[in-house]
Amino acid sequence: MPTDSSLMLAPTPIAGESPSSWLHRLSLLHGRGAQTLLHSVGIRKMKDPDITLTSQQFGSLVRETNVSASMVAHLGTIYEPLRESRYRRLLRHDDRGRPVYAFCPECLASDETPYLRIAWRFTHWDICPTHRIRMCYRCLGCEAPLLAMRPPQKFYLADLRRCSMCASDLTLQSADRLPQEEICGSLRIQAALANTLLLGHCFIEGHPERVPLDFLMHALSTRQLDGTGIRDTPLTPQFRLLCHDGQMFFLFLNFLGTRGESFPDVT
Ligand SMILES: [Zn+2]
Ligand SMILES: [Zn+2]
Repeated sequence: MPTDSSLMLAPTPIAGESPSSWLHRLSLLHGRGAQTLLHSVGIRKMKDPDITLTSQQFGSLVRETNVSASMVAHLGTIYEPLRESRYRRLLRHDDRGRPVYAFCPECLASDETPYLRIAWRFTHWDICPTHRIRMCYRCLGCEAPLLAMRPPQKFYLADLRRCSMCASDLTLQSADRLPQEEICGSLRIQAALANTLLLGHCFIEGHPERVPLDFLMHALSTRQLDGTGIRDTPLTPQFRLLCHDGQMFFLFLNFLGTRGESFPDVT
């Protein structure tokens, strides 16, 4: 395999698509595993493309293709606030530590071009807000997770609807529809968490400065974040913080991100 070569063709990024998703589609287009593709443009060993690949490296993948570097530059910045290894558990990994995605079979089935949403990589994203079903984590055909890095295969099928290991149709996995009244709070919390992670900060009542994600991680791991105390305003949901010393604070998560079209509709 020659290095530093041009790929000639690349997919156009879809609004709300994750970096790994675009890499999957590039992989399918060329019939090669993701690692081989990256190697072909001089990018060596890559474990987690979502947090590691830079805008410049995405640019090198589309050099001399139908897609310009400026069209893929944003892919290198989406998960930027989560690059530090201490934020690793906010992103989904399998039990072998590989970066993986959850997926909604009904979203994939309804896509004109199937793609992985940015929020599907987040550990706390459990319910599809569009279809009100629990996210799937494995292919039912072979039990394989949906890896962020598409592995090399003998045959490359048409699109992301097919399991990258056994080619089963992921859209055939069924799930029970969840009652709207039961999931309303969960949906708002996961949407607010997702936006907060993408922005990289939150606020605490009475504290004028932005609070880093470390605080949110601590609140999540010690179960201090109380979703039942939610008091919504149109722009900023508030979550009650349960403090052991009896003090009461409210944590303001970011419900509406500022990244515009790069974030999926989470309503
Ligand atoms: Zn869905
Ligand atoms: Zn499979």
